[in-house]
Amino acid sequence: MAKKQNLKYIFVVGGVMSGVGKGIATASIAKILQARGFETTAVKIDPYVNVDAGTMNPTEHGEVFVLDDGMECDQDMGNYERFLDRGLTAESYMTTGSIYLSVINKERNLEYHGLCVEVVPHIPLEILNRLQKAASKNKAEIILTEIGGTVGEYQNILFLEAIRILKLKKPKDVILVLVSHLPSLSAGSELKTKPTQYAVRTLNSAGLQPDIILARADVALDKKRKNKIAFNCNIYEEDVISAPNVENIYEVPLNFEEDNLSQNILGKLNLKPRKKDLRKWQNMVKSAKSRKEVKIGIVGKYFSAGDFILSDSYISVIEAVKHAAFAFKVKPNIEWLSSEEFEKNSQKLKNLSNYDGIVIPGGFGSRGVEGKINVIKYCREHKIPFFGLCYGLQLAVVEFSRSVAGLKGANTTEVNQNTPHPVIDILPEQKKNLSENKYGATMRLGAYPASLKKGTIAYEAYKEHLISERHRHRYEVNPEYVAILSKKGLVFSGFSPNRHLMEIIELPKEKHPFFVAVQFHPEFKSRPLSPHPLFKEFIKTSLNKK
Ligand code: GLN
Repeated sequence: MAKKQNLKYIFVVGGVMSGVGKGIATASIAKILQARGFETTAVKIDPYVNVDAGTMNPTEHGEVFVLDDGMECDQDMGNYERFLDRGLTAESYMTTGSIYLSVINKERNLEYHGLCVEVVPHIPLEILNRLQKAASKNKAEIILTEIGGTVGEYQNILFLEAIRILKLKKPKDVILVLVSHLPSLSAGSELKTKPTQYAVRTLNSAGLQPDIILARADVALDKKRKNKIAFNCNIYEEDVISAPNVENIYEVPLNFEEDNLSQNILGKLNLKPRKKDLRKWQNMVKSAKSRKEVKIGIVGKYFSAGDFILSDSYISVIEAVKHAAFAFKVKPNIEWLSSEEFEKNSQKLKNLSNYDGIVIPGGFGSRGVEGKINVIKYCREHKIPFFGLCYGLQLAVVEFSRSVAGLKGANTTEVNQNTPHPVIDILPEQKKNLSENKYGATMRLGAYPASLKKGTIAYEAYKEHLISERHRHRYEVNPEYVAILSKKGLVFSGFSPNRHLMEIIELPKEKHPFFVAVQFHPEFKSRPLSPHPLFKEFIKTSLNKK
């Protein structure tokens, strides 16, 4: 029998500044190695003390991504799932907080057998321990680990220490990739390499030397710049990979292959290259190049962080819209609509007719809620394709209750505890959590099954009786109102198998071309090579509106 190959590790760190696309770079490297026939997985380590990403505000941190097992994590986990076309689990995500928490718990349980437990080596060893668990859970031959933050910060120094320890033990099985950024003072002017040189020196002072530098920049690197980085950063020129901005993130793996990156990495890890297959991926990227457009408005509130628009808060929704649009060979033109602007301004509402479809994604709290309800009413009355996600479903139920079922003052108890008609109410098990101030990882989280009703839009889209979708909420459709809302024409087309929880609502096709909302987050399961069935149905109807 052939000797079992050692597990191979690739670490990805960022230099110069944050937000240069480490997540996409990590996902893309994972993709090209997977396309070479290697079992590949990816892990994200975040430097903050939060135990998971669940308690952070989206404008602070971007979207909170949810895995099947309920882990609330960083949006990069979504990139890994989308690029690898695989579901991941809690083992593949860690934060400084979660690492310390498990070391402290182990110490309390005497698992260190009387040792003095120290930051070094016990924290880095715990990190390495977890990487092994993630690899074995995913049966991986190669594990990529993305270290959050930027080299030179105090926060991630222990992660660098973990890499150093592992490289020392297994020099042939570990490589380090630095994703750097080359600024230029104005468009067309010279790309500057000095910040990259400083980033490498900082890595050197942590006892590390990058094996590959991915040079992010507005444009591709010229030979001279590659040479300069190679010479000053102590690496070979072929190990400097040009990573210019792209219009479509799914092009990145193909760009990396232009520089023969998979071949290069496999060589460094002493792995024999296998046959490459990126055909499906190439076709998907080609479909995205179409000129024909579908115009989708997303109504939300997590946009403003100072003067910047943070579409990061809804990244999976954007990607899911893109995947579905690519399936019909059209380009999505996504516009952000701030819910608060629809609260009083009826002129603004009229502009909604300029869109082929409207999405109301998830959300929390009362800000902007009446604006969203006005948008839903307008879409319902003017037959504009409407797709509601989580809070989007709850507010669609509120709107229908008020305007169609005649339940005056109907609301969700999240917004008004004293509403005469609590059509959306807190899940019974959630009451206790809130009264005890238990907010971390206590929502209804992760994958739950739902049964679909035959003959509905939902059933036609999924073509299945039983589905599984990811959740993240504390409130639900109040069971006491289901009968009356059904009688008034609202169709409950998906529900938990025991029929206690409502999962999908819709209006019959004769009444509205696409008025569908879901209690779960379908966006978390959409992948570029397998778009989500409901997003596909939504885009298809939106194209018909044209
Ligand atoms: N705020 C709502 C709830 O907690 C909806 C949550 C969401 O949209 N993810 O139930």
